[in-house]
Amino acid sequence: MDTVSHWINNAPAPSSTDRVGEVFNPATGEVARKVAFSTVADVDRAVDSAKTALEGWRQSSLARRTRVLFAYRELVEKNRDALARMLTLEHGKVFSDAQGEVQRGLEVIEFACGVADLQKGTFSENVSTEVDSYAIRQPVGVVAGITPFNFPAMVPMWMYPIAIACGNAFVLKPSERDPSVTNFCAALLKEAGLPDGVFNVVHGDKVAVDRLLEHPDVGAVSFVGSTPIARYIYERGTQHGKRVQALGGAKNHMVVLPDADMDLAADAAVGAAYGSAGERCMAISVLVAVGDAADKLLPKIRERIAALKVGNGLDPASQMGPLITQQHLDKVRGYVDAGAREGAELLVDGRTLKVAGHEKGFFLGPTLFDKVTPSMSIYQEEIFGPVLSVLRAKTYHEAIELIHAHRYANGVALFTNDGGAARKFQNEIQVGMVGINVPIPVPMAYYSFGGWKQSLFGDLHIYGRDGVQFYTRNKVVISRWPDPRFRGVDLGFPQNR
Ligand code: NAD
Repeated sequence: MDTVSHWINNAPAPSSTDRVGEVFNPATGEVARKVAFSTVADVDRAVDSAKTALEGWRQSSLARRTRVLFAYRELVEKNRDALARMLTLEHGKVFSDAQGEVQRGLEVIEFACGVADLQKGTFSENVSTEVDSYAIRQPVGVVAGITPFNFPAMVPMWMYPIAIACGNAFVLKPSERDPSVTNFCAALLKEAGLPDGVFNVVHGDKVAVDRLLEHPDVGAVSFVGSTPIARYIYERGTQHGKRVQALGGAKNHMVVLPDADMDLAADAAVGAAYGSAGERCMAISVLVAVGDAADKLLPKIRERIAALKVGNGLDPASQMGPLITQQHLDKVRGYVDAGAREGAELLVDGRTLKVAGHEKGFFLGPTLFDKVTPSMSIYQEEIFGPVLSVLRAKTYHEAIELIHAHRYANGVALFTNDGGAARKFQNEIQVGMVGINVPIPVPMAYYSFGGWKQSLFGDLHIYGRDGVQFYTRNKVVISRWPDPRFRGVDLGFPQNR
């Protein structure tokens, strides 16, 4: 059986132990391969390789860095389907969804190709007589990324193309559950002409993460994953003096006002709740129906759920695939049990689903709860599966209060035909990413992505201009060329002349 190895100094690198994890094909439930788990020594080798490469890379011209990024962009485009197939086989998401993931990652690479403009500094002439001042943005140095299982290609692409374009060297610790695509991307970066050591991969678990968090040569850490780990990464990384951005979990609400187009809202709710089996940080997991909206909307949602085809992601007829592991399936089923026990009305029960020929796959059918209340665990906690909870609110204000009382604030959506209500909502809602008649408002590569409250720890959002800021440090220079008039000792405080 294959073992996915680390990638250090532009080549597959053996592990220093035989500690490994299992990688499943979630549609069949079989172990497809193993993945090496790093030791502290493996991480140190990867960081050393990045540190050695750093000086040459940060001094390389903007033109050269741009050309490497362009070449990488072309290779990802050319291999889009190969990448998507790899995603489906290890993550389980359907092939068309996997192609969409690659496309959204590609857009960040395209944004990073504009580094020559993005990394420009500023210049002020004559801040004092014959004195100029300018600000330049320089790379942080060796930077690390730690990423989740649910977007194994795209989420790392939110990080490394921008970090590398800005002149940093990168060490990635991807999810141990679907690791193969990362090594494929590493080989494409090499083919694109990226010098040895600028991009390295260490696979594994907490051992690798903890070493990256405390390694003295790592200057910044980007993390995307669940909230408890995000908080831990932020606290531990900043304690060690690093710049940290840590994106966490979500409980995204979709508010439907009584005047909304109910067919549009039903299509959106079903797509956003069950796409990728609900394993998206921007999935809609709560629908807040205002006034009499629920009575109009629920029959339409049920009709659409009944028509959904769940199966192997490689089958072109499938619209929804399996969950990532048996352990995660058990966890999500546990939430469905809890919702029923706590008194929510289970309108559609996905626990009964059987996928013919895939009896050992990690499948759960789309599940729909009505009459959920704020105290229930299915409302409070992130389930990360194909489970949609409907809450009924009497008024718009009651819906807003619900959202504001929740600890997560990643994304939110409003469905209405009332422009005034939409404008008020986007102005007052305390959430980082807002959709108006758009259920999954993932910002374009030239904006930045991030939630508020417990969905993000740190100051800056990820990718876009925030990404450039995160991966660079500001330096301000004040320069005066020697001039005979200014010779002589002067103990006075420098004044602008
Ligand atoms: P996770 O938090 O379990 O794992 C994320 C990363 O942290 C992985 O690389 C993992 O190996 C590592 N890790 C796990 N436990 C650790 C520990 N105890 N110490 C140190 N490192 C540890 O997340 P996941 O299950 O892979 O992904 C799903 C989660 O990610 C969901 O909560 C989802 O909302 C979130 N997510 C958020 C965003 C966002 O942009 N906010 C995007 C995608 C996913």
